[in-house]
Amino acid sequence: MEKIIVCIKGVPEPGSVKVDPETHALKRESMELILNPNDRPALEMAVRLKNDYNIELVAISMGPPNVIPLLKHAYALGVDQMILLSDRAFAGSDTLATSYVLAEAIKKLSPFSLVLMGLKSIDGETAQVPPETASLLDIPSLTNVKSLFMKDNKWIAIREIEYGEEEVEVEGPLVCSVSPTAFEYIRPPSLKRLLEVKNKEPIVWQAGDLNLDSQKLGLKGSPTQVVEVIEKKIETKGIILEGETEELVEKLIEVLKEKALIKN
Ligand SMILES: Cc1cc2nc3c(=O)[nH]c(=O)nc-3n(C[C@H](O)[C@H](O)[C@H](O)COP(=O)(O)OP(=O)(O)OC[C@H]3O[C@@H](n4cnc5c(N)ncnc54)[C@H](O)[C@@H]3O)c2cc1C
Repeated sequence: MEKIIVCIKGVPEPGSVKVDPETHALKRESMELILNPNDRPALEMAVRLKNDYNIELVAISMGPPNVIPLLKHAYALGVDQMILLSDRAFAGSDTLATSYVLAEAIKKLSPFSLVLMGLKSIDGETAQVPPETASLLDIPSLTNVKSLFMKDNKWIAIREIEYGEEEVEVEGPLVCSVSPTAFEYIRPPSLKRLLEVKNKEPIVWQAGDLNLDSQKLGLKGSPTQVVEVIEKKIETKGIILEGETEELVEKLIEVLKEKALIKN
């Protein structure tokens, strides 16, 4: 049976970022990871397509073992099979090395009709992985897709573009990144599957399980090296107003006027 593959990424919980001072890479293994928020619409689209076309759904994630709860969440949403790509050799991968491992895992899952990904991650923010993976698989790629359906054995995609929308007809298999605003309503996981996943574990593929060239993996295989990560410090200066209630109200009105938050 053909399948839909959805790629999901674990990203640091905002505020919990730890950066390796030597490699400038994120220390993902010691961090609280959440599902990349932009991958949630990709999962929603995948589950809807699974229901519409009765196609098997596989979720894959490359990362340390602490992405397992995210794969289990994907299962609870309707994914049939969970695959974790995890190996020390993958650490420090840039987008090219990440896409290389994902593409080899996807090849191993052939035949497939569609690969869905998020538009971009909220940590790396490059949006390169979907088109790079498509290029390595030598299949078409569409970005920012807001709806997708099948007609006469072809995929019809509506893409969000700067000045409106565009309809594209493509023969599969293909890779699509899903628009973060694709769905107004995203369904929660079902209780039945939440209970079911308690007894399930993802299949783990290490480097040796895939047809990989070790020179193309991790920091060694990454042409992009992050040279410095500068933490943005957000400072908010509070104002303390003192006095009796009436005086305080007047002072507050003055402050709001100064900041042009209310009219004179
Ligand atoms: C501050 C910072 C800056 C960085 N800048 C760069 C840079 O300029 N160039 C560069 O090559 N690398 C960069 N990296 C490294 C980058 O985080 C990794 O390469 C990452 O694995 C993939 O890139 P991305 O997060 O930008 O993915 P994106 O291309 O933004 O992700 C799009 C989608 O691809 C899928 N995806 C991405 N990664 C995975 C995964 N591991 N498993 C499953 N699906 C996945 C998800 O569906 C995701 O929504 C940077 C890292 C940091 C911390």
